[in-house]
Amino acid sequence: MKFGGTSVGRPERMYQVKDLITRSTEPTVVVLSALSGTTNALVGIGEALAAADKALAKERIDILHAHYLNFYPELLKSPAARTKAEDILKEHFEFLNILLKISFNEAIQRDILAQGELLSTKLFHTLLEELEIPAVLLPALDFMSIDENSEPELGKISERLKAILAQYPDQQLFITQGYICKNHRNEVDNLKRGGSDYTASLVAAAIQASVCEIWTDIDGMHNNDPRVLDRTRPIAELSFDEAAELAYFGAKILHPASIWPAQLHNVPVRLLNTMDPAAAGTLIKAEVAETGVKAIAAKDGITAINIKSSRMLLAYGFLRRIFEVFESFKTPIDMITTSEVAVSVTIDDLSHLDQIVEELRRFGTVEVDSNQAIVCVVGNQVAETKGVIQSVMDSLVDIPVRMVSFGGSKHNVSILIDAQYKVQALKNLNEGVFTW
Ligand code: ADP
Ligand code: ASP
Ligand code: MG
Repeated sequence: MKFGGTSVGRPERMYQVKDLITRSTEPTVVVLSALSGTTNALVGIGEALAAADKALAKERIDILHAHYLNFYPELLKSPAARTKAEDILKEHFEFLNILLKISFNEAIQRDILAQGELLSTKLFHTLLEELEIPAVLLPALDFMSIDENSEPELGKISERLKAILAQYPDQQLFITQGYICKNHRNEVDNLKRGGSDYTASLVAAAIQASVCEIWTDIDGMHNNDPRVLDRTRPIAELSFDEAAELAYFGAKILHPASIWPAQLHNVPVRLLNTMDPAAAGTLIKAEVAETGVKAIAAKDGITAINIKSSRMLLAYGFLRRIFEVFESFKTPIDMITTSEVAVSVTIDDLSHLDQIVEELRRFGTVEVDSNQAIVCVVGNQVAETKGVIQSVMDSLVDIPVRMVSFGGSKHNVSILIDAQYKVQALKNLNEGVFTW
């Protein structure tokens, strides 16, 4: 069971989490995010330190500290529990304050980011202790790890976690941190923003859990972005493939990579609402019967690169050479379209854009379009369902379409547009492809 930032962001919410986890009849690993707002605040502290603005860093540390000083007395009532919370806060805020005195580097930045989940889990565990609910606090840094490519090491995670859990044969409840991990240099690292979902799916896969429940502040995956549109509805069931596409292409409710571990071990994922636990939510599993468009998501911050070369005409090996350029800079490609003499690809990691473009110029003319967005229409058999492409294109008649990718998978149509049209595209598709 994973609980996100808003689910643990207020003392009364932590009580709800306590109710939900103690209802479970099976042994349960509980993965917690940082209290909402904390990771953003930690990012801000890191930025101030990176800019050598110690006064600003100190101000931000004090604001965050004040938030926790208000939080714990509302959460905990007994003097013993409150003393424990004071010690926890002292430890973590002393750590942040010490950073004001030493020279800053990237490893420290990641150490800062880890404080949020460490604080939330320790405070929550103290609450369980106060309420005399037996639970073990498992440090995620003892089992979660990523390799030199920042990929989670599922095999090792599984071995370590199973060995740790075997030490507690009579325990029912385990609490651990989402998001944080160790990297190949044995430093504290993380699974990128929103990474607690990824932790939950990795843990569920590692121990072959019966289910991976992601508890958040909405009643499941909606059919379109509820932050942008007034009218959206929860989806009852999604296949792993559909959910993975939606997460990857921008549905913020799930971390982009969070589906594959559960899918690999066939652990069903449920998206549930902490604020409304009775709501059905979304069930994500291997096979779903329903066909047609299920949902639409959009991802911005996309850059399109077009390579045009008459040498491509009737040549083999051309695409391989182009892809090798991206591979050598460890830059994933999202969308691809080709014609006889040109190929367009999209990327969202711009760290090596200049070098990539320079290398690609060896093959032909290269054009770069930044500020693009991928709009992704997802559904089981969407590519084969009659009329889907027609209604998607009809909905977008007023919007200049830069690329279309269709047929690569059976459950996705992706369209690249300038990011300025993203909201309009989501609105038009919402009316055009769904019946309300
Ligand atoms: P948590 O802190 O629990 O991880 P997040 O804020 O990361 O929660 O994710 C939940 C939010 O995702 C929702 O409040 C909602 O605004 C947003 N969201 C974006 N797209 C979707 C979607 N398609 N379905 C549901 N929620 C979405
Ligand atoms: N606390 C982390 C973040 O805000 C991880 C998470 O909430 O999933 O990104
Ligand atoms: Mg999240």
